[in-house]
Amino acid sequence: MIIFALIFQETVFEFFSHLVCYFSQLTGLPTVVKIVEVGPRDGLQNEQEMVPTDVKVEFINKLADSGLKNIEVTSFVSPKWVPQVAAGAEEVAIFGAASESFAKKNINCSVDESFERFRKVTEAAKKENVLVRGYVSCVLGCPYEGDVKPEKVAEICKKLEDMGCYEISLGDTIGVGTPGAMKQLLTEVSRLVPLSKIAVHCHDTYGQALANILAALQMGVTVFDSSAAGLGGCPYAKGASGNVSTEDVVYLMNGLAIQTGVDLHKVIEAGHYISSAIGKKSGSKVGAAMGVKCAL
Ligand SMILES: [Zn+2]
Repeated sequence: MIIFALIFQETVFEFFSHLVCYFSQLTGLPTVVKIVEVGPRDGLQNEQEMVPTDVKVEFINKLADSGLKNIEVTSFVSPKWVPQVAAGAEEVAIFGAASESFAKKNINCSVDESFERFRKVTEAAKKENVLVRGYVSCVLGCPYEGDVKPEKVAEICKKLEDMGCYEISLGDTIGVGTPGAMKQLLTEVSRLVPLSKIAVHCHDTYGQALANILAALQMGVTVFDSSAAGLGGCPYAKGASGNVSTEDVVYLMNGLAIQTGVDLHKVIEAGHYISSAIGKKSGSKVGAAMGVKCAL
């Protein structure tokens, strides 16, 4: 009987371990991801109303309390005041574009000229031991040029990596990307820069953000930018959705048993707080579905 029990136990164990193995092969997904909260910077700077500092501070405190460890709070970094910023900051960001027209209209220079400016920023940051995060806008489409070549994005990522960026965030600024385009883009980028250094920054303008994030997860990306309550509209389409909401991303990851370190209920509470403070409906579907009661 004892022998039988042992065999039985072993069979059960094998059965479950095969099941677990099968499951992870099926998903092939990472077990831990990093979420970069961009609400206080990217989100609020795109809101029409000016947000009082005390509200902003309370919002940031609530985000931190939910477990978010990477919260972007600074505005656009101008090379002129980088040395001062660098002295007090742990991290600075540089913003590149994959399209000439976008660079001209937004930073008033060509893509190549923008790299000359970045060099000054990265050199100042290096001296102060400050990390530099690179952003590339319009990676899946440009409001002026339409399609953007994945090879062009890959080249820019490589330049940013060579300049010393520890992480490069690929922004679908106008939210037009779909999962096939995301996979194609990441395939090209991975030829020049390892995907361990790549983050994706999806906007939900066309309702594709979570699908694109899942596609990126399947490709091996483990860093995702998002904004509580989906703050931040699309500057090129009035009234359109902004960044993918942090609540929705955390819900997705929880469902896939992927750790984020973020308490879903607390981040929902932060989203509700800022939405009511600026008098705007939350852009988070999960926030709306779960309501504010669950935060109590
Ligand atoms: Zn954004």
